[in-house]
Amino acid sequence: MNWRNISLWMDQLDDPLQARPSLQHDIQADVAIIGAGYTGLWTAYYLKRQAPQLRVVIVEAETAGFGASGRNGGWLMGNLLGEDRLMASLPANERKASFDLLHAIPDEVAEVVAREGIDCDLRKGGVLYCAARYPEQEVRLRDYLEHLRELGLGEDDYRWLSPSELAAQLRVTNAYGALYSPHCATIQPARLVRGLARSVEDMGVELYELSPVIDWQPGQVRTAQARVTADWVVPAIEGYAATLSPLGHYQLPVQSLIVATEPLPTDIWAGIGLERGQAFSEFSRQVTYGQRSRDDRLIFGARGGYRFGGRLRSDFNLTEEELGLRRYLMGEIFPQLRNVRFSHSWGGNLGMARCFQPHMLRDSRNRIALSGGYGGEGVGASNLGGRTLADLILGRDSELLRQPWVLSDSPISRLRRWEPEPCRWLGYNAIIRSFVHEDEVLANPRSPAWRRRLAQALAARMESLMG
Ligand SMILES: Cc1cc2nc3c(=O)[nH]c(=O)nc-3n(C[C@H](O)[C@H](O)[C@H](O)COP(=O)(O)OP(=O)(O)OC[C@H]3O[C@@H](n4cnc5c(N)ncnc54)[C@H](O)[C@@H]3O)c2cc1C
Repeated sequence: MNWRNISLWMDQLDDPLQARPSLQHDIQADVAIIGAGYTGLWTAYYLKRQAPQLRVVIVEAETAGFGASGRNGGWLMGNLLGEDRLMASLPANERKASFDLLHAIPDEVAEVVAREGIDCDLRKGGVLYCAARYPEQEVRLRDYLEHLRELGLGEDDYRWLSPSELAAQLRVTNAYGALYSPHCATIQPARLVRGLARSVEDMGVELYELSPVIDWQPGQVRTAQARVTADWVVPAIEGYAATLSPLGHYQLPVQSLIVATEPLPTDIWAGIGLERGQAFSEFSRQVTYGQRSRDDRLIFGARGGYRFGGRLRSDFNLTEEELGLRRYLMGEIFPQLRNVRFSHSWGGNLGMARCFQPHMLRDSRNRIALSGGYGGEGVGASNLGGRTLADLILGRDSELLRQPWVLSDSPISRLRRWEPEPCRWLGYNAIIRSFVHEDEVLANPRSPAWRRRLAQALAARMESLMG
């Protein structure tokens, strides 16, 4: 396996990408972590910061960053998927404290990477959610803003930008306005995950690569060659949950797909903007996301798919249709890029929880700690997950544990299970199909008003099933 082919980000590394030794002999540890992505590495990092004497072992199937952590779009968000639903249940003062905790995630990561000397191009330029392409996006975005205001979030957290205010930061065609939030940074994802792996090793964590775990149970993790016995086990495999029973019941593997242009010339960027490392997205239900990389490429992603039976995707050579969708969306937003060459295209598996919101859990009886279900918003969430799991394992009382996404003493079976097939596949595809249909209808200026309303109502209804 040439790990450079995983993504633009892995391809850009100076790191020789040589595999670390695999697990060859049995080990007794305090904490055994399965998976060297952000979740596993952040958990190891915060455990060792607080309790340097602990023996922490990470067992990774491939290499650090092989999963979504080495492939994502590089939005480091101070948010969680489904946070509005999670927060709605809290009294106003607690809700404010929880939002503050989330909004501080990019700064926490910035502090660690500065302390550890990890150069991952982190720039905190905020995020622009643009109403573009068709006017219905503005209505939805304004409704969303109103909802955020009801939750107590003010102008400092989310600010409406008129088309001309947006144009000072980002020029997109057919802009109807945008929502700006400062609580987001962009990063070069692979540099973060590889840098973290080196930092935790320097702190004394043992990291074994090319060591797929084939079986796990409370107190034990087993590869084909050897086993790790440990007081605590942390499965940190997110989009790969289906490979280790029973985790697949609770986390569905969903794919997201991205393209990257060649570095673009200055005159093209003068026409686009994004000078401060802002992340951006347009507000259709196609889940688009983008950023301008440090070397002046446009990175642009959109939703991917789900495979029957939760089969993982390992071949990320994008089909013509997959490339075509991204080219179409990019070209609609930035017509000057319609014929631009993509230097890289790739994708990855991410984990979607049944209630479409993440969980951080401690099963005290079986001494298992788990964080996941980030649903495509895991770059920042996994940092929070790592901090939370460290406190859960160490038994420290902290405000991290008093959050609505934390189950501090609960068996894994308390998580909501996904329905069996073919319900999952049918449900997922029906929802996506309604989103695609909505986009086709709304993007066509000749669609009559009744068709536009119908397509929107259907997509909104399907979306509500996810809540
Ligand atoms: C294309 C794409 C774009 C995304 N963009 C964004 C974004 O811009 N912002 C954002 O917030 N989130 C984004 N995400 C989601 C985010 O990347 C993930 O939520 C996050 O990286 C999850 O980190 P993790 O450590 O939990 O999982 P992973 O990074 O997937 O790590 C899991 C690790 O476990 C290993 N593993 C799996 N099975 C085993 C086994 N049996 N034994 C041992 N090891 C095993 C894997 O090899 C892998 O290294 C994106 C995801 C994808 C796929």
